[in-house]
Amino acid sequence: MGLFDGKKGVVFGIANERSIAWAITQQLAEQGAEIGFTHLPDKDPARPKNENKVRRLVDPLGAKFVLPCNVQDDEQLDSVFKSIEEQFGKIDFVLHSIAFAPPQDLTGPVYNVSRGGFTTAMDISVYSLIALAGRARPIFNEGGSLLTLTYLGGERVIPGYNLMGLCKAGLESATEYLASEMGPEGLRVNAISAGPVKTISASGVGDFKKMLQLYETFSPLRRNISEEEVGKSGMFLLSDLASGITGETLHVDCGYHVMG
Ligand code: NDP
Repeated sequence: MGLFDGKKGVVFGIANERSIAWAITQQLAEQGAEIGFTHLPDKDPARPKNENKVRRLVDPLGAKFVLPCNVQDDEQLDSVFKSIEEQFGKIDFVLHSIAFAPPQDLTGPVYNVSRGGFTTAMDISVYSLIALAGRARPIFNEGGSLLTLTYLGGERVIPGYNLMGLCKAGLESATEYLASEMGPEGLRVNAISAGPVKTISASGVGDFKKMLQLYETFSPLRRNISEEEVGKSGMFLLSDLASGITGETLHVDCGYHVMG
């Protein structure tokens, strides 16, 4: 018996086998979940690189569908949720594991961030959670669970995290407001604040190597988090084991957040 037997949901944000969304997906699949996936649309449909990368991972798990979705595009979001409803009817969980900031705006100091870069980063990294929540709400089963991924740089200044820190502060606030609005309908919204994990997105963050060293030296557990640990915690928050938890940002970071 798996925790997700008979449960269905959608995962947004697998880029490759290093993605945090992939770590959570593996745990969900192990517990019996039926899962559909999205990927960033390919520029050249004749050479579907993004789709192939995702399919290579999720097809062996018995993915129910793999659909293109740029979260900046309302029409694509509408069409994806229409397909989700056609395929699944009702759903039990949605994983939002998406963030982006233009490199030139992410690497510089916050006072140099351009208006366009700020808007793009907030749109993809924060508004997308709201866009998913609004569309998932009507098709969630009672007990439905929405999960997003954040980082400590949204709570306090972490050198190198810059613009993404502002986005994560917004994302954590959105998590709380959405939890308060959707809670009366029996729906839960939570975030995992993960310690640093080597992924494509992380490679855009300055001082990332230094971050890994800091966690190893100063976190209470004196090491970095493993992807599997984030995967298990994500699965927990999406499951009925966490039925009393909403509006929460759960730190899965070897305890680093309690230090200084
Ligand atoms: P990944 O790069 O593997 O995942 C980010 C995903 O966002 C990719 O699948 C990417 O697609 C997708 N994406 C970007 N822009 C769009 C868009 N417009 N529409 C749809 N999808 C889009 O990195 P992670 O797994 O590290 O990141 C997942 C989440 O975890 C992010 O919110 C990140 O901030 C957060 N996080 C990461 C930490 C880390 O150390 N890695 C620590 C704490 C939080 P594509 O690659 O095809 O562009």
